[in-house]
Amino acid sequence: MSELSLRGVVKRYGATEIIHGVDLDIGDGEFVVFVGPSGCGKSTLLRMIAGLEEISAGELCIDGVRMNEVAPAKRQIAMVFQSYALYPHMSVYDNLAFGLQTAGEQKEVIDRRVQHAARLLKIEPYLGRKPKALSGGQRQRVAIGRAIVRQPRLFLFDEPLSNLDAELRVQMRVELSKLHAELGVTMIYVTHDQVEAMTMANRIVVLRDGVIEQAGSPLDLYNRPANRFVAGFIGSPKMNFLDGTVAGQAPDGLTIRLDGGELVAVPPSGAARERGTAVTVGIRPEHVELADDGLPMRVALTEQLGGNTVLYGALGAQQALVVQVVGQSGIRRGDTVRVRLAKENCHAFGGDGRSLAA
Ligand code: ADP
Repeated sequence: MSELSLRGVVKRYGATEIIHGVDLDIGDGEFVVFVGPSGCGKSTLLRMIAGLEEISAGELCIDGVRMNEVAPAKRQIAMVFQSYALYPHMSVYDNLAFGLQTAGEQKEVIDRRVQHAARLLKIEPYLGRKPKALSGGQRQRVAIGRAIVRQPRLFLFDEPLSNLDAELRVQMRVELSKLHAELGVTMIYVTHDQVEAMTMANRIVVLRDGVIEQAGSPLDLYNRPANRFVAGFIGSPKMNFLDGTVAGQAPDGLTIRLDGGELVAVPPSGAARERGTAVTVGIRPEHVELADDGLPMRVALTEQLGGNTVLYGALGAQQALVVQVVGQSGIRRGDTVRVRLAKENCHAFGGDGRSLAA
C-alpha cells in the first residue's frame, strides 16, 4: 500500500523558483504520468519524491508519513532512469541481485526474486550474459528488473523509453502497463510524450513552467481540457485553434464569428460572454467533418497514412486548419473541400486561455 501526497511543494535553486507549490494526491496502485514540455519541472518533481533533490518548501508524505527529511534509501522507492546504469562487468543475474546482496538478503530470497523478475520481464534466457551482449530494450528490462527485485512500495520512471527506437517503445509501453497490472504497485512515470501518457496512465498530470495545468484521466483531458495549453498538448495531430469573437449567446451555446467572417457554434459557457469578446475556438482534426454544406477550406498539403488522411489547409483567407479523415482520400493539394465544425466537438477558450466550459 502506498499513497502519496504533495502539499505546496516548491523547488528553488538559489533565488530561482522552478516548482511553484504543487498539490497532488496519488492513490494506492495508481499509474500516474507527469507530462509536459522539456524544462517544465517533471524530473525535478520526481527527484524530490525520490529524495534525490531537497524540497525547498511544502510537504511530501508517503502513507501519511512526512518524507522530506528521510534519506532516499529509506523511502522504499525504486527509480528507473533513461540511462540504464547497469554494471558492465556483471552478468544480468548479478546486476539484478547486487542491490539485495549488499542489503544482506539471504541467497534463496535473492534467487527467488531475481527469477521472478526475470520471468515477468522475459529476460530469463539472458541471465548469464553481460549487458554489452544485450539490445537496448533488453538492457532497459534489466534496469526495470533491478527495481522490481527490491519490492518497492513506489516505482518512479524518468523517461525510461527515450533511448529506444519507435517500435520498441510501443512494445515496452504495453509491457509496462501489463507489469503495473500484475504488480499493482503505485507507479509515477515522467515523459514529454503525450502518447505515452495517454496509453499508460490511469491519471495524467500536465505540467507547465512548474505548475500543474490539469490532472485527470486520459479521456478527461482529451474531452474536457481545462485550458488551451492542455488542449494543444494532448492529442495528435494537435487541436486546431481558430480566433474569433462572440457574436451571440443562446441557452444552448455561443455563436462565434471567426476572424475570416465564418460563423460557428460552441457549447454553452459557464458564464455570460458579451458580444465582441475575443475567444479561441478549438476543434480536433479528427472531429472536423467533410460536409457539402460546410465552410470552404483550401487544401495546401495532404498526408496519406494509409488508415487515415490528414489534410492541411486554411479556412477562408488565413486560419490554418488540419483535418483528419478516416481512410484513404482522393483529395489533393489545391482542392477546395467543405468542412463542418460540429458544435458538440468544439471547445472555446477565453483570452486567458481557460476553457469557457469550466
Ligand atoms: P523536465 O524534466 O520537465 O524537462 P527539469 O525538472 O529537468 O524539467 O527542469 C526544470 C527546470 O529547472 C529547468 O528550467 C531547468 O533548467 C531547471 N533546473 C534543473 N536543475 C537545475 C539546477 N541544478 N540548477 C538550476 N536550475 C535547474
